Amino acid sequence: MNLMSWGMYPRIESNVFKFDGEESLKHVINEHSELIPYGNGRSYGDSALSRNIVDLRPKNHFIDFDEDNGLLHVQAGVMLAEILEAFVLRGWFLKVTPGTKLITVGGAIASDIHGKNHHVAGCFCECVEDFKIMLADGTIASCSKKTAPELWKATCGGMGLTGVILAARIYLKKINSHYINQTTIKTRNLKETFAAFEEYRDKPYSVAWIDCLARGDDIGKCLLMVGDFRDDGQLDYRLKPQKTIPFNFPSFALNNWSVRAFNKLYYGRVKERVTRQKVDIDTFFYPLDAIGHWNRIYGKPGFTQYQFILPKETSYKGLEEILGAIADSGKGSFLAVLKLYGEANGNWLSFPMEGYSLALDFKIEKGLFELLDSLDKIVIKHLGRIYLTKDVRVSRETFEKGYPEIETFRKYRKDQNMDTKFQSLQSKRVGI
Ligand SMILES: Cc1cc2nc3c(=O)[nH]c(=O)nc-3n(C[C@H](O)[C@H](O)[C@H](O)COP(=O)(O)OP(=O)(O)OC[C@H]3O[C@@H](n4cnc5c(N)ncnc54)[C@H](O)[C@@H]3O)c2cc1C
Repeated sequence: MNLMSWGMYPRIESNVFKFDGEESLKHVINEHSELIPYGNGRSYGDSALSRNIVDLRPKNHFIDFDEDNGLLHVQAGVMLAEILEAFVLRGWFLKVTPGTKLITVGGAIASDIHGKNHHVAGCFCECVEDFKIMLADGTIASCSKKTAPELWKATCGGMGLTGVILAARIYLKKINSHYINQTTIKTRNLKETFAAFEEYRDKPYSVAWIDCLARGDDIGKCLLMVGDFRDDGQLDYRLKPQKTIPFNFPSFALNNWSVRAFNKLYYGRVKERVTRQKVDIDTFFYPLDAIGHWNRIYGKPGFTQYQFILPKETSYKGLEEILGAIADSGKGSFLAVLKLYGEANGNWLSFPMEGYSLALDFKIEKGLFELLDSLDKIVIKHLGRIYLTKDVRVSRETFEKGYPEIETFRKYRKDQNMDTKFQSLQSKRVGI
């Protein structure tokens, strides 16, 4: 089957295995190598792509809910959207959620994903009590942070390279409204942007859209959106039908001029320095999910998301340098998202560290990888790292410099015979 992830690059021929029960998955694992679990394919690059794929989406049953503790037991193929649909009405929300609800619980653990509240709530795995995973020899392990600390640190953020997560117990968060009080702060440059993040630090959710083509004194100008749930007792949630982009746009449609025009309109539509609105869950957390297959606007060659994080001490200097290099290159991105992060959690390949990250979408075109290679150098100079779940091209050297626990991870995989069984295109490229 021809397979790809959200970036539509690369596309490869894979054997896709579904399984009925544990015995049939064991058989798949025993019989094949170069295997990798596949959730809902919302990673951007090649972390879920390999010669042999285990399809987890059909494993989408709810197992149990402990209402007293907000502890939900689900199979790994359950999507966050399915959890919202069943639980918002009852006053529960996800403790940590990314910018799309169309991912599986297994994918959330394997990427140790983060949301707009990392500075107060950490990564997704902070809300996981335990999970069940099938290992390279076909045995099933039950893993919590306490009972199997090494398997935990390797699997949370381990990009599917330790085994197939079958089910997990995750804590939900109590809410008393499906509305959020959102404040938007308009800034004129990077200095104001950083000051605004610090000023609103006590808000649990924050995210900024940056105009990545701004130059000179305007570099880093943004719209910072911060918010928190209201307390008005209104609870409702229905998945809305999506409008869908029906075909790939011609790739010339997205260029420096269209991005510049979009940025001008998007930034210009907000007139005041500070504005306040009441918005619902989908508007605040998942604006991109409103349009199905929005990845097609990048055209048939596909696109990639470049997401890096820098430590707090070097964030300002590094971002200034990187935004300058992007503006000079003329390769713009509609989406340029800046987020604030709290402390790292010690999982060996987890992406977040205390500081700021920037995520930018670029269409695949001539000269792009050369630009990204040059940005990597700035990221590494400022002691940062690249997010594996978005990546499709980073070199082994850049990857290793960003992840100091890589040797521990490699050794663990080797000792457990995982390294020859579970492999993705990405793991082969960066040597894990
Ligand atoms: C619009 C959009 C916004 C996003 N916003 C954010 C964000 O704000 N923060 C963030 O952190 N990420 C974000 N992401 C990335 C996304 O959350 C991650 O890539 C997530 O891992 C995708 O989950 P998936 O179920 O689609 O997994 P896939 O893309 O199918 O797989 C991703 C990785 O998880 C592994 N995996 C999947 N299921 C299992 C399993 N059962 N057992 C073991 N390994 C498994 C795969 O092998 C692969 O390495 C965003 C993605 C999109 C498209």
